[in-house]
Amino acid sequence: MAKKILDAAGLFKINLISGEPFYTTYNVLDEVKSPVEREIVNGYLRSGKLKVFEISNEEIENERKTLKSSERLSDSDISVIVLAKKMGGGSIVYTDDYELQNTLSNLGIEFDGVKVNKIKKKYTWIYRCTSCGRVYNNRIEVCPVCGGRVKRKLKSSGSI
Ligand SMILES: [Zn+2]
Repeated sequence: MAKKILDAAGLFKINLISGEPFYTTYNVLDEVKSPVEREIVNGYLRSGKLKVFEISNEEIENERKTLKSSERLSDSDISVIVLAKKMGGGSIVYTDDYELQNTLSNLGIEFDGVKVNKIKKKYTWIYRCTSCGRVYNNRIEVCPVCGGRVKRKLKSSGSI
């Protein structure tokens, strides 16, 4: 049975997912603010059906540096990616966040949607300088050649 890693959307819908134990990170747990959801999640924690891992800020920052399109991913999203990599094959991430789904897809990490269907397309981004037009594959904010602002552009999309 695949090890199920939950992001915040997964935690909010934990009672709709079967196959415990579930796995998450403290960064994700911090996003559960409402007392009702908190109580449900605490029940899973007490019964051992939800296991929480500590991902350090250093691990998150290191992972962020390796990602090409990470500007919209929160620390919590990235902590999920780090956990999935640590748990390796046989783990699957439950998330409704398209940006996170897209990144997981590019990394070859298995994922599924919680209440929405998973994305059908995969996007590849390039980074283009708004002044000189040079194109870069990696996320940078300032063009190293002319100092212009670099913006993200869609390069291609295709079926997963
Ligand atoms: Zn430039």
